[in-house]
Amino acid sequence: MALDEILITRAIIERYTEKLLANLDVDVAIVGGGPSGLTPAWILASKGWKVAVFERKLSIGGGMWGGGMMFNELVFQEEARPILEELGVRLRPAYPGYYTADAIETVTTLASQAVKAGATIFNCISAEDVMVRDDRVCGLVLSWTAVEIAGLHVDPLTIRAKCVVDATGHDIEVVKIFLKKNQPVTLFTPSGGIGGERSMWAEVGEKETVAHTKEIYPGLFVSGMAATATHGTYRMGPIFGGMFLSGKKVAELIHERLTAEW
Ligand SMILES: Cc1cc2nc3c(=O)[nH]c(=O)nc-3n(C[C@H](O)[C@H](O)[C@H](O)COP(=O)(O)OP(=O)(O)OC[C@H]3O[C@@H](n4cnc5c(N)ncnc54)[C@H](O)[C@@H]3O)c2cc1C
Repeated sequence: MALDEILITRAIIERYTEKLLANLDVDVAIVGGGPSGLTPAWILASKGWKVAVFERKLSIGGGMWGGGMMFNELVFQEEARPILEELGVRLRPAYPGYYTADAIETVTTLASQAVKAGATIFNCISAEDVMVRDDRVCGLVLSWTAVEIAGLHVDPLTIRAKCVVDATGHDIEVVKIFLKKNQPVTLFTPSGGIGGERSMWAEVGEKETVAHTKEIYPGLFVSGMAATATHGTYRMGPIFGGMFLSGKKVAELIHERLTAEW
């Protein structure tokens, strides 16, 4: 069979356009393809909701690839074991109640499960703003990361979503831009604004991150390190169970919300 470069090009453009058009109006838009973004993508897509993940970088996985200080082994505590087992990630017991998993296996398995469950992951796209109607976050404003890096004077595009998740990690980019552009608004946090991340305390940080994973403004949810930083609790260092448990919790909250409202 002779290969035709134009057919190759057409196939890419047609399929990508198809994918983009199918995700202009979704149930859940997740910003950030780290563990706290991919976990809810997998769970919510498995329940039949239409989920799109937007990741700024070329690669998804966020902070998982490098484990702790680039030692690519991830540590999980007992509470997270069921999620990892359900995903099919192989865990090795390290000490009583502590497990390790290969970082590469964890990222690739989680991403694969999310996509096979029906979530669509868009890489190289950055969320630069949200859409707000009637005091509710209801969509995202997106642009190519390359445009952002080059500082090009190019307008973004928009998608609509019933729920938006800020899973952007330490930088809480979606919450920050929402606050900046929509004053006066009050978040469902103790200060009504961003609490900021505190120094390392694994025991408390892991638990509080899950506890403060929630809807912080109508339509806008936080998970993972974004929940930690928004509420103002302790960072937890290179243990990853809280990220998966937080992702699971945000998925449960959104599932309840979508089931009740739509
Ligand atoms: C400096 C540093 C300190 C760390 N400290 C801790 C710690 O104390 N505790 C801990 O558990 N882990 C820490 N980590 C590791 C790691 O960040 C987390 O454990 C874990 O990966 C966080 O998961 P997450 O899903 O919340 O966010 P991340 O894994 O960080 O994933 C967030 C993803 O969102 C993407 N993103 C960000 N903004 C946008 C946007 N506007 N549009 C689209 N995509 C966007 C990023 O590219 C990234 O892939 C640290 C990492 C770094 C780099």
